[in-house]
Amino acid sequence: ISPAKRIIVTGGAGFIGSAVVRHLIAETDHQVLVLDKLTYAGSLDSLRPVANNPRYRFVQADILDALKVQDVFASYQPDIVMHLAAESHVDRSIDGPGAFIQTNVMGTYTLLQSALAYWLGLSGSRKADFRFHHISTDEVFGSLGAEGYFTESTAYDPRSPYSASKAASDHLVRAWHHTFGFPVGISNCSNNYGPYHFPEKLIPLVILNALEGKPLPVYGDGSNIRDWLYVEDHARALVLIAERGRVGESYNVGGHNEKTNLEVVRAICAVLDEIAPDPRIGRREELITFVRDRPGHDRRYAIDPSKIGRELGWAPQETFETGLAKTVRWYLANPSWWKRIRSSVYCGERLGARA
Ligand code: NAD
Repeated sequence: ISPAKRIIVTGGAGFIGSAVVRHLIAETDHQVLVLDKLTYAGSLDSLRPVANNPRYRFVQADILDALKVQDVFASYQPDIVMHLAAESHVDRSIDGPGAFIQTNVMGTYTLLQSALAYWLGLSGSRKADFRFHHISTDEVFGSLGAEGYFTESTAYDPRSPYSASKAASDHLVRAWHHTFGFPVGISNCSNNYGPYHFPEKLIPLVILNALEGKPLPVYGDGSNIRDWLYVEDHARALVLIAERGRVGESYNVGGHNEKTNLEVVRAICAVLDEIAPDPRIGRREELITFVRDRPGHDRRYAIDPSKIGRELGWAPQETFETGLAKTVRWYLANPSWWKRIRSSVYCGERLGARA
């Protein structure tokens, strides 16, 4: 067990960030400060389980606001920064790339500068033990053919505005390590799913549409392959890397759960037909509707997670089947979380869902 640290989590009100925070509060002794702008994708409702814990704090701030970020660093005196704040939805990056360049590229640069200045002012073991952990995606590696896996040494080949902006941020983080000696770590993870997932993404969109008897949109012929990981397995991996990962290294995180989008949608239909049958809707698979493919849609992502297994002893606890059943049950049990988002924040301007 690592000694208690003070951890800043940027983007901690988002899907993965909130899972990291709930994990840190429930399973460790660390102190946590969430720094989040609360864009459309962030919600304090996702942090409600930790809201009254004395080890948790929240600050609403934009990572582009250097003065505010510097203030937070100076007053909180973190030992670890876990950087998850980002624009994260591929379809939105096609419709409007500007916010992705601002937050993912300029925001990461601004945060790095503030964190570097803070770190340079530390001394002794606090300086030696400080970590800046940058959370990234396997989408920076581009698209795979039928064979092979992304490893930590796969060359970057991003193809969407989202993945290009994440690749740029990864390069900045590495450059700050090589140039300034800044103690960073990077992780690249496959597609996550689980509780508190914003309902514009494929799995929650399909669960909620299927529950309501609405069409289930699938891009193209549904044969694009993604490698799925339950979000709590990812959160555990991130905390392990932040605590024990080697400085300057990157770690790929994934659970060997390659599925076509059509398989994912069919699996959700099967779970719902079993645990929430509705005679008015009938077999949910009949709601599947193929929609025009996303431009530049990557064919296949698949992660080789052997390095994090070998070095840090991490392995996922959920299979796709157990994680999906947990996820569907969570959405059935928590309508107040998603109904507010479906009716107000999310305007549903596009039918297509990302995966
Ligand atoms: P998300 O969209 O659910 O959450 C992003 C959070 O960042 C939100 O709370 C939002 O309010 C906050 N934010 C956005 N812009 C900000 C800004 N300028 N300043 C401060 N806060 C800001 O995203 P997510 O799915 O939880 O992803 C988190 C990170 O993990 C991202 O960096 C993403 O690239 C990466 N990632 C995601 C996946 C996935 O499948 N979701 C997979 C691998 C890596």
